[in-house]
Amino acid sequence: MTLAATENQIESLRALPSDDVRQILWRFADRYDLQMLVQSVRAVARGPVARLVAAGARNTHEWTADKDSLLRHFDESGITGVFMDPDQGGFLEGPKNLALALVAFELAWVDAGAATGSLAGCLALSPIHERGTPEQRDYYMSRCAPAQPGEDRHPWRGAFCLTEPIPYVGVETGMLGGKVRVADWPEGAEPILQVEKRGRFITNMGFANFVSAAVESDDPRIKGTCMVILEEADPGTFDRGTPTRKLVHQLSSTRDPIFSLRVPASRIIGGYSIKDGVIVPRYSHGEILEAVFRRTRVTVAIMTSAKLLSAVEPVIRYGRGRFRGGSIANPGSPRYELGLQLKQDVVHRLVDVWATGEASAALGFEAARVFDELDPLEKLKAEIMAARGITGGTALLKAMRQVQKTAMQAGPGADDPLVRFALLDSVANVLCPACKLWNTGHGARMMREAVSLMGGYGITEDCPGFLGHKWIDSQLEATYEGPEAVQRRQLSITMTDDLFLAQFRQWIREMRLIANDHPATGACALATAMQMWLWSLQHLQKSTDADGGKLYQGSRQGVTFPLADALCWLLAARCQILDVLELANQGPQNPAVAEGLPGTLAFLTDLCHVQSARAAGEVGRVCAELVFGYNRHPAWDTEGCATCYQSNDLDALESLIPGIASMARGYTDVIESDGSHTPKAGPCVRFDGLDQFSRLRIRMDGCLTGSQLAKDRAAEALTKVMIPEALDYPV
Ligand SMILES: Cc1cc2nc3c(=O)[nH]c(=O)nc-3n(C[C@H](O)[C@H](O)[C@H](O)COP(=O)(O)OP(=O)(O)OC[C@H]3O[C@@H](n4cnc5c(N)ncnc54)[C@H](O)[C@@H]3O)c2cc1C
Repeated sequence: MTLAATENQIESLRALPSDDVRQILWRFADRYDLQMLVQSVRAVARGPVARLVAAGARNTHEWTADKDSLLRHFDESGITGVFMDPDQGGFLEGPKNLALALVAFELAWVDAGAATGSLAGCLALSPIHERGTPEQRDYYMSRCAPAQPGEDRHPWRGAFCLTEPIPYVGVETGMLGGKVRVADWPEGAEPILQVEKRGRFITNMGFANFVSAAVESDDPRIKGTCMVILEEADPGTFDRGTPTRKLVHQLSSTRDPIFSLRVPASRIIGGYSIKDGVIVPRYSHGEILEAVFRRTRVTVAIMTSAKLLSAVEPVIRYGRGRFRGGSIANPGSPRYELGLQLKQDVVHRLVDVWATGEASAALGFEAARVFDELDPLEKLKAEIMAARGITGGTALLKAMRQVQKTAMQAGPGADDPLVRFALLDSVANVLCPACKLWNTGHGARMMREAVSLMGGYGITEDCPGFLGHKWIDSQLEATYEGPEAVQRRQLSITMTDDLFLAQFRQWIREMRLIANDHPATGACALATAMQMWLWSLQHLQKSTDADGGKLYQGSRQGVTFPLADALCWLLAARCQILDVLELANQGPQNPAVAEGLPGTLAFLTDLCHVQSARAAGEVGRVCAELVFGYNRHPAWDTEGCATCYQSNDLDALESLIPGIASMARGYTDVIESDGSHTPKAGPCVRFDGLDQFSRLRIRMDGCLTGSQLAKDRAAEALTKVMIPEALDYPV
């Protein structure tokens, strides 16, 4: 089905996208196990979790019996077991990134604190899952699995303890205050370690039975840093500390614990070797964090997406019911039927919220799927390398550099698993920080928009859909597991990787082809914006500022960070378009989706167009500021800004975009005191070195054609779409 046809589509969106539509968009239409999981998690989210929020359980940061009862619901519904393999007491085979993302989505639809509480257990297990020894994995995973029928035991709960009291670990994960020493090392026996660690803001700490803690050696007999597992029954102090007086995620437990414990050296995650009388942990804490966060951050990103999409229905309902009072609002009258939706701004803003929700969910779920594909490849890579006698260190780095070179030539579709790993890894390295950064950071801003559409209600506990809670909660999602600065810093490195950029170039070509077949998606604007971003990155990588200072470098966050942000807009809009194309391809074959599909597709296509235009605008702004902003104006004092464009060039541009020349002149002419305009000649920004950029910019502006018409259509659809009488969870 071509989406271009939807430009003249008259069928409107009939109902909010169904589960069947979502399954196709997010690619789990063939995963019955995941569909069942979603239903099961939803029953917990819209049942016990929603009832707790509605009853005011968020009004205290203490871990109450009511909140604690959620853990049992998590166990019984399968939420706890999602993380484990079947032989460890779980029920899902294979990689679980998409499954965990769906769990986070369903819980955060109602309350992200509940989602965080459930996922913090997985976070505690993740270091063990990713880098633990087989014995550690079996021991802790099976203890954390919910009891099977007939079993009489409480599943263990875990906490992940990295962050420390100020002035130690936060954004800078290397500044460890937590220490480990050898307490006892009997001849021929296992060393006993003394661990001193204080945590700050540690989730699940109110009830955790074990903790994965990051520490640094304070003893010449231990090398570097590591992560160790601490258990509540270990000799010494296992003090859960005071509850964090947080304003957010009140359905999770957060405390500042203090540990001073003796543990056997076998608790070092990943094990250790002994070289010249020194304990050498197999993995530093940094290596473990890298393996853990690159997966778990995706689920955090998805939480904010869920909240944006969950806001749509309450906002529509509120708008329609508003201002029904008064003598002019009789049933059947536009005022009575549409209420606030009569006002264009109300529906336009909701279109923006919805479009952001779609784009961020598309990006987050794509990242989760990429990790599902990557996980088995990563294992295979390790096996292949081990067979070659390469297990880590510089030898592995060198071997992978060679693979990357091969991958540059091979491109996508390569058969070699190492090449496939390298290609996918470079994409995963970008998608993970991108979705964590954009979904949560920009998502938090857009949640505010949703809240504002509910007026005063938005900032009360009574707000349908708990939107006020969701707004402030999203600031935590933007903060924990590394705030935005961490994601931007990581992106500024991974997005310049040659292998990623080679694939990004292919994505530009792919968008051009999509633009050809489905122009209504806004793919054209997106492709041009992607080109502009790439051009700007390459330009800034080799440019200097007016004083000769290198522009693209780690310490110049004013350059690297906005470019990272700009990329996120592009990636999200791209994933959104690809999702809708998937629906166009798969939808007609699915009887549950086929009915009403034209209207759904037309609407989602319009949202793509709106989002692509917005992304293009953002990228244009960021890139223009960076590309031009570090040059010094040649004649600032004498000529001001009046000479910015050369008339000849404007004439050339006029042929591309009628009206542009007069517009540009309007901005660049000098305005005299009597109000008359004096055209000025003589350029300060010539189209010589930067002409490609400026032409791209003009072209991109032209590509925005039709995007506001798409917004008008989407807004109109919001006034007609059917919604249920009431929310399916309490208020
Ligand atoms: C409710 C809650 C639950 C949490 N749960 C856990 C948990 O279970 N386990 C755990 O270990 N931690 C947990 N955390 C801690 C959380 O991960 C940290 O708060 C977060 O990583 C940021 O660290 P920080 O607060 O020390 O910020 P800081 O390190 O003080 O940074 C503050 C700000 O300074 C700026 N900044 C800092 N460094 C840089 C830089 N290099 N470049 C540019 N800007 C920079 C950024 O704007 C940053 O946001 C939790 C936090 C909260 C609030």
